[in-house]
Amino acid sequence: MSVVNIAIDGPAGAGKSTLSRRAAAALGYIYVDTGALYRAVGLYMLRAGIDPKDAAAVTGALDQVHVSLRFIDGEQRVFLGEEDVSSEIRTPDASMAASAVSAHPSVRDFLFSLQRDIAAANCCIMDGRDIGTVVLPNARVKVFLTASPETRAARRCKELEEKGMPTPFDEVLADIVQRDYNDSHRAVAPLRQADDAVLLDTSDLNFAQALDALMQIIKERVS
Ligand code: C5P
Repeated sequence: MSVVNIAIDGPAGAGKSTLSRRAAAALGYIYVDTGALYRAVGLYMLRAGIDPKDAAAVTGALDQVHVSLRFIDGEQRVFLGEEDVSSEIRTPDASMAASAVSAHPSVRDFLFSLQRDIAAANCCIMDGRDIGTVVLPNARVKVFLTASPETRAARRCKELEEKGMPTPFDEVLADIVQRDYNDSHRAVAPLRQADDAVLLDTSDLNFAQALDALMQIIKERVS
């Protein structure tokens, strides 16, 4: 069987990870969350006392960053060296650091081949910001998943609460608006819909409806 890659891009909180994880499980593919890689690099910089916005300092530290993805029982875990940082990368501070480091071309280059190698070896659903445009331009299926900022903030609040990290709605919304701006205005690999991607807006869909819509798009293109 040839390797099938599905690229899912979109802004923070659009439901990419939950939907991608479920769709990948249904298809028997692995799910690759590329945001976790940027978050791990961001976390490394925070811990090292390096300003994630400082391109020169971040670039200089990259050769000490040993980031890897491991798939344990089909679940992606992200490691810094031998430390599993899968939970620690989810804090609001790590989100902001990820957004800041992801604007540096050196960081994108650093993570590029890791992503490409996983996709070359595995049928996968890979989600991120530039998967359909830069990382996997030849992906069999490309989806641009979005929802209004308010819908996304409400979903993220619920998620954070379930993880025992309740955060006020206004703070989550401000964080989402700021990250949307950063992600779509950076010079390198900005967040944008690939010309050949299918747009899926989930603002008015519940989870089951959004999953149905996503599976439909995939089934039409992967037999
Ligand atoms: O998807 P997630 O919110 O975990 O991503 C964290 C940050 O990593 C995003 O705000 C974005 O700046 C960056 N990112 C990226 N390219 C990707 C995935 C994530 O720039 N492919």
